[in-house]
Parts: sequence; C-alpha cells; structure tokens
Amino acid sequence: MSATHPKLRALTGTTPDYNFAFLDEITKREIRRSLLKAVAIPGYQVPFGSREMPIARGWGTGGLQITLSLVGPDDTVKVIDQGSDAALNAANIRRLVTRTAPQVRTTTETGTASIIQSRHRIPEESLRADQLLVLQVPQPEPLRYVEPLETVTREMHAAGDYASIWVSIYEDIVRDGEASQSTGYPVFVNDRYVMSPSPIPRFDVPKLHRAPYLTLIGAGRESRVYAVPPHTTVMPLAFEDHPFRIEDFTGKHCARCGSTDTYLDEIVLGNGRFIYTCSDTAFCKQRQTMPQNVQPR
Ligand SMILES: [Zn+2]
Repeated sequence: MSATHPKLRALTGTTPDYNFAFLDEITKREIRRSLLKAVAIPGYQVPFGSREMPIARGWGTGGLQITLSLVGPDDTVKVIDQGSDAALNAANIRRLVTRTAPQVRTTTETGTASIIQSRHRIPEESLRADQLLVLQVPQPEPLRYVEPLETVTREMHAAGDYASIWVSIYEDIVRDGEASQSTGYPVFVNDRYVMSPSPIPRFDVPKLHRAPYLTLIGAGRESRVYAVPPHTTVMPLAFEDHPFRIEDFTGKHCARCGSTDTYLDEIVLGNGRFIYTCSDTAFCKQRQTMPQNVQPR
C-alpha cells in the first residue's frame, strides 16, 4: 500500500460499496422520468431502460427499481409478498434496501410505511394519500393472452380497440359461467386504457378505484412501468348483466384472528380438512391484539 494512501483517503473519504439505494443517480432520474409520464397517462405502459439487478428478473426487479429510484433517507419501506412480510422474496428485497440504503427504515406495519412494495396483494389496511404503493408485475400486457404480438397490442391500445378482450371474457362466461381470470383481472383505467392491475386477486381490484394514493406498477423483465394516479377511475371489465365478482369467503373466517372480511388463504391440514388464515399477516397480527375486533368462530 502506498505511503500516500492514508492522505488520499483523508481527502476523498470512505467510498461506500454502493451508491445510495443501489442504482446510480442517472438511472434513478431516467426511471423517475418514465414514472412521471406513467402518472400523466394513467394505465399506459411506458417503456424504460430496465437495469440488471442483484435479483433474478421475474422476482420483482421492476417494482424494486421503482422503489430504489424514489426512496429517500426519510422514507420507511415495507415489502410484502402474497401479503406476508416474512416471505422469501419480500425478505430479500427488504434486505437489499437495508444494505444499500442504510438510512432508510423498514417496517412490517402498513400504517407507518411511506413506500409499500408488494407482490400479489394490496394491504387490507386502507392506504393514505401520503403513502405510495409499488406493485410488481411479471406480465404488464393485459391483451397478451388474446394477442401474442407486442406491435399489434400497442396498436390496439393506441386505437382503443379492445374488442378481442371483450370477446374473450364473453366466451369465458358462455363456456364456464364466469370470467376465467382470477388474478390480474383486466381493468379500464380513466375510461381510456385497459390495464393489468398486476397479479392481485379480484378481492383487491376494487381498492384501486378512486384510491387516494398513487400506485406505481413495474415489470423489470418486460421493461415497462405504468401508474394509477390518486382518485382515478379503475373499473374491472364486466358486462351489465354479468357484473364483476370478487372471491366469495362466505362462511369462512381466519383461524388466527377470526376475521370474516379479509382475503383468506386456504391451509390444508390433511385428512380432507383445511383452515383459513388472513393473507395479510401484518393486518392479522394487529387484529389478534385487538380482542374487540375478534369475530366469534
Ligand atoms: Zn387473521
């Protein structure tokens, strides 16, 4: 080691292993520009230069790039996967945020988070206008299963030509009595664009309608971001005589907190028996500590 090294170190300071929040500042600015466009055109898929991330594509890199481009030292981040803070994907993303942005706090409490990154769920607790919801989406194109070509789907969006997706829902109803899509149910945003709300269950889709908070959705592998700005109309595609329906949990309750009004996961016990628990583990824990809210079993 050179004798001058300590002097140089004194001049330059200690170099951190990573830039704050992993991404370099030019990348963050580019992603934020794409997000501004997404907010300006609700439901429109904006292409962005998706970066290589230290997690595999398809594991939430789109949502992660949004979170890391927006997070600041004053933020508190919550990450959930299928409603759980402890799931592998959520724990790894949270650890990456903590390691590369040590000033940022992380939490499992929905109410104290300023940024909530989620896969497959919107929290049960109503989000406020000062909170930001970031959703991970593997396939951002809601028309993909009726049209395989990207060049054609982009033309369909531009022309507002959604006949083929309406026909596909109609055919589902004729064949099965119900639209077949259980997660990522297509929605009309701001009466203009058909959008995939990410693979959230139908139960969560109505939460997006005129929500007071901003929702940002990112697809890393597909290099797309899109947004639902606050107070925007989000209507599931449905027919007047065959309205949109959410999952039916009638007669079921959470085995831990007794809840009858949350999205429930089925847990198989064997011998043909199963129980249900809240998918949102933080909300369930909160209810367990509030005995007055526990429903009779
Ligand atoms: Zn519960």
